[in-house]
This record gives sequence, C-alpha cells and structure tokens, in this order.
Amino acid sequence: MLNSDIIQRDLSVLWHPCTQMKDHETIPLLPIRRGEGVWLEDFEGKRYIDAVSSWWVNLFGHAHPRINAAIREQLESLEHLILAGCTHEPVVALSERLVDITPSGLSRCFYADNGSAAVEVALKMSFHYWHNQGLSRKKRFVALQKGYHGETLGALAVGDVALYKNVYAPLLIDTLMAPSPAGCYAADGESYEAFARRQFEEMAALLAQHADELAAVIVEPLVQGAGGMRMYHPVYLSLLREACDHYNVHLIADEIAVGFGRTGTLFACEQAQITPDFLCLSKGITSGYLPLSVVLTNEEIYQAFYDDYLNLSGFFHSHSYTGNPLACRAALATLDIFAEENVIEKNRELAQVMDEATRGLRDHPHVGEVRQQGMILAIEMVKNKGSREAYPWQERRGLRFYQHALKRGALLRPLGDVIYFMPPYVITPEEIHQLAEIALEGIDIATG
Ligand SMILES: *Cc1c(COP(=O)(O)O)cnc(C)c1O
Repeated sequence: MLNSDIIQRDLSVLWHPCTQMKDHETIPLLPIRRGEGVWLEDFEGKRYIDAVSSWWVNLFGHAHPRINAAIREQLESLEHLILAGCTHEPVVALSERLVDITPSGLSRCFYADNGSAAVEVALKMSFHYWHNQGLSRKKRFVALQKGYHGETLGALAVGDVALYKNVYAPLLIDTLMAPSPAGCYAADGESYEAFARRQFEEMAALLAQHADELAAVIVEPLVQGAGGMRMYHPVYLSLLREACDHYNVHLIADEIAVGFGRTGTLFACEQAQITPDFLCLSKGITSGYLPLSVVLTNEEIYQAFYDDYLNLSGFFHSHSYTGNPLACRAALATLDIFAEENVIEKNRELAQVMDEATRGLRDHPHVGEVRQQGMILAIEMVKNKGSREAYPWQERRGLRFYQHALKRGALLRPLGDVIYFMPPYVITPEEIHQLAEIALEGIDIATG
C-alpha cells in the first residue's frame, strides 16, 4: 500500500481532531505504518522523529519491549472490568504506587480515561466537597489566562485558548481569569521570578475578593502547554498554595501534560514543594499506549463524601473504561522504568543537550525567545525581535515550518508560531542535534 492509498481512504471516511479538514486538500496527511523508539515510518519507508511524543503522551518511544510485554501479559488474564463494585490487581497496585510517588498528602485515586475527563472530575469533586460541607455558594473557579485543560465543556470553561474556546463561550460556565505568570510576558530585564510574583498580585486580589464563592483555582504547574509552552517560575505555585489555604479554596494541579518527568522532576509541583488538593494525571501515565487518567486527592476531601448511602452525598460519577486493566498495566510498566532506569537523572543530560543544540537559535532575528523547562523546549518565532511583535496569525508561519520539518524527517507541530521539542525520553543527543538543525532551517524558511 502506498501513502496515497491510505490517505485517500482516510479522507473519504474520517474527520480529524483539531483540524480544518479542507486544509487536507493541499496539505497531505502523514500516514504512519509503524513506530519504533523515537522513529515513525510511513507507508513508503520514509522515517520521521516523533519530536512531539505523539501529542505529548509517549515517554519511552514507540513499541517499547517492556511495555509491550506487560500489556500482552495482562491481555491473557483480564482485559477489562467494571470498576464500580469490582476491583482488580493492576488498578490497586497502580493506586498504591501513585500515592507513593506523588506529593505527600495525596492518598486517594479516582480514575477516568482521558485528561479532559480528569479535569471534569476535579472540578465536580471540588464543588461537591463544598456542597457537602453546606457551602454550596462556593461554585466558581479561577484559572489562568493562556491556560489549557481540555475540550469538554467544563474543561474548556477553565481554559483560555481562543481558537478552541471562543465559539463555545455561550455554553460555558463563568470562570474568573487571572493573568498568566508566564515569563515570556515579563518586562525587559525583569526576571521570571519577579514577574511571577508581580502577576500573583492579581490572583491574590481575585482570591480575596471572591473567596466565599470560589471552589478552586486550577493551573498547569510550571508550563502552560497548549497555550504556547509558556513557562513560569515555581514561586507562583508556592504563593498560590499559601493563598488557597488562607482563603479556603482548593488548588487543582493539572499535570496532565507536565507530569511524569517532563519538567525535569517527576511532578512539576515538586519544584515548588507543594501538594495540591487535586492532582490530575493522564497523557504520559501509560507511556502513550492506552487512554487512562486519574485524579488524586487527600483524605479530608475523600471523607467529606464518605457517608450513609441514604444521605446521597457520594460522588456518583463514572466512565465506562475507568481503571481499565490493560491501561493500568501499561502505567505500572511505565513506573517500573522510572524506578529502575534512572530516567530523571538521564533526562537532565538530555535537557542539557537540548539547551546546547538550540543555542544558535537564540540570536536568530526572528526568534523572540527560546525557553526550556526540563524536557520541554520552545522556540517562539516573531516578526520583530526587539518588540516581540508576533506575525499576523493569518500568515500561518508555523504551518510552513511544520511542512518543512516533515520533508526533513521530523514531526514537529508548532502551536501557532511556537515551535517546541517535547520528545520521548529515549531520544539520543545526535537526534536532538538533528532536530535543532531542522528547526533552524525551518525557521529560516518560515520567516523568510
Ligand atoms: C492534553 C491536556 C488535557 C486534556 O487531555 P485529553 O486527554 O486530551 O482530554 C488537559 N490538560 C492539559 C494540561 C493538557 O495538556
């Protein structure tokens, strides 16, 4: 079969996610036949580095022998089970280990099957907790500008990416937005830390003003992913934790993208030494093999739902594939790799290589900022380096970059004009240098 055959069949029956389908009249789909490690291979044998970890989910490369074996083994005993009223070993073992490795105080795991669903669970649980305490007026949420938390209506309401959100605004719950602490918006010469502290003032004011109607604040710790890989100083999280405690408001940490080592620590919250009231995990949890998500919370919140049935104060929320055994086994194999293969340590070296390989890009006349947090590195293309003026979005320069990268054998999918590397952790220094070279060429072409 040729690339063109599968593309033709695809375009007559599929509707792709996050895509203007008409684009595919001129931009070919990328048909992939197999994957191994960081490499993807199309139907004609051309290979591409998966520099975006297949939408941020893949941690240890495609077709990882250890994860493949774990799923195969699980397949022989139990593929799926209803999790209401029933239980199975993989979900229990995974919960024990998650409680063990996440920030201290998180003691309960509630499962769903994708990131957006986990966000919905956290929002509902937070509201419901206050309701069970007789504080039903605590029903609003605070979120950050430029944040992203998924596509279902609740998650969309607490997000702030115009392209995904604006048209649905009439359907969404009303959310309070605090300014982004991301350092890319700092004044000339202002440090990331100083800017985060300055931006926190408005968050503090919102909390002070609205505390008695607020259920929770939701943030993506350290890196605002889909909003453009915008990064901020951990002091913002420390200040936020303190203020949430002070004003009796929950803190929801959405580590769906940044969890499992992306920011340089296993969880981003570690860098601020905080424990959120809700921790949402998904994406990398199964190394990108199977859909799974989980919300961890503390004993106090759990106990607020623990009551006689007749009081109807339980959390009656479920998804059909909750805690799927195959997905849980993939997650356990993922945690085994973290435990035994020194991943965080090795990533430190890879992150260093990413930094070095992109040094030359910093001075490029159309690069506004190169920013990095652990294993995430982002390069922002701008029209004017001095003023950081952006290109008009209609010019779709990121798309030009994307097409060039594909030609050169890299799947790099910019967010607007922000190019980023978020590769599987099995990428080699040589492959990182290859990506940097492709990025430089691509930026020249896209901005030329
Ligand atoms: C991807 C993402 C989500 C949504 O996860 P899905 O599995 O795509 O629904 C939520 N929050 C963050 C921070 C994400 O990056």
